[in-house]
Amino acid sequence: MKLCLKYRINPTEEQEGCLDKLGFYATKLYNTDNYMRREQWDKTGKIPNWYEQKKLLRENHWYKLLPSQTAQAVIKNLQDNYVSWFVLRKTDNDANPPMFRRKDKPSPLTFYQQFSIVNGRITIIMSRKFRTENGINEISFDVGVWRDIKGVPKMCNIIRQGNKWMAHIVYEVPERKLKKYPNTMGVDLGIINLITTADTHGNTKTYSGRQALSIQHYFNKEIAKVQGKSMKQQKKKRTKSTSRMHRHKSRQINQLIHTATKRTIDDAIKHKVGTIVIGDIKNIRKDKHWRKKDSQKLHSWSFAKLTSQLTYKAMLAGIRVVKVGERDTSKTCSVCGVIKKSNRKHRGLYRCKCGNQMNADINGARNILKKYLRESKDSRSIGSVAEPLIWRCSNVVPS
Ligand SMILES: [Zn+2]
Repeated sequence: MKLCLKYRINPTEEQEGCLDKLGFYATKLYNTDNYMRREQWDKTGKIPNWYEQKKLLRENHWYKLLPSQTAQAVIKNLQDNYVSWFVLRKTDNDANPPMFRRKDKPSPLTFYQQFSIVNGRITIIMSRKFRTENGINEISFDVGVWRDIKGVPKMCNIIRQGNKWMAHIVYEVPERKLKKYPNTMGVDLGIINLITTADTHGNTKTYSGRQALSIQHYFNKEIAKVQGKSMKQQKKKRTKSTSRMHRHKSRQINQLIHTATKRTIDDAIKHKVGTIVIGDIKNIRKDKHWRKKDSQKLHSWSFAKLTSQLTYKAMLAGIRVVKVGERDTSKTCSVCGVIKKSNRKHRGLYRCKCGNQMNADINGARNILKKYLRESKDSRSIGSVAEPLIWRCSNVVPS
């Protein structure tokens, strides 16, 4: 299993100069490659593939100044951009081929084998040409806060974010032996409640999503304000401050997602859950009730985040994760099984003629759980529901 951790690094002024140089070389290489591809496209209507380009550019000045795999990653990145353009232009006549990068914008740097991590320090190794031209063999960084992980570092991405430098490191982590715990937990993902759980022991819990929505709302308003003023201002200034706000927004929402998923897994361990069943989100738009465009935007990306964080945290804890289709799970009564859309009342209440009356998301989580038990021919009943516990993750406030 792969795991990505983000570290803030603190390069010295001299190191920062080196990183900017490398980023500049990467931008130059990207543009050189793009120029060749466009020429080829004009001439033949075809684009060379990654391997051909790699061969053609091997002796290129910028290529040789970069660590070889970093250079290859630049070419691969452009290749991927071309592939998405090819897909896009089938349906969109106005789709543009990948643009050239601005010279003053250093590209992110990807390292595969030419980096190492020893005692919480990240070291990157320079190419031979860079060494002879600059007299620098390698750069070793101070890392802000080091989080140790038992895994093999596979890839390191160094990215400049304004005045900050970040290293995103992908580790290969051994998968844990699965625990043979008896209980199973259904998980429903949503807007008003980020995560709702119901397990075979009758435990339920809800993690409110209101905080995430209010962060979203707050930042969108602030960004709109800045954009409104921007007509009179310089373009550069505007993009800088709005992109900072976008970053703050996603950092705060990520923090909430992190807290909610961690607590969910802690609960699962506490209640001896061996299997977690997540409603598959593929058809989420058809099945869920959307009220505002706002919430839709939040969820297109945060659902994926919730699912992937739950999955890897569960795996680290030795808990199995399975997915079941979400179809009808919000409309179905989790007690008598009747499917009726109008049973979903206002304020997230589900009420059925059979007497069942409970929080609609808990009803959904129970249905996800039931669906899995039915599909896996497990005859356990899921018990009745006690008053649900509601957690509000309010450790983050908009600043
Ligand atoms: Zn019913």
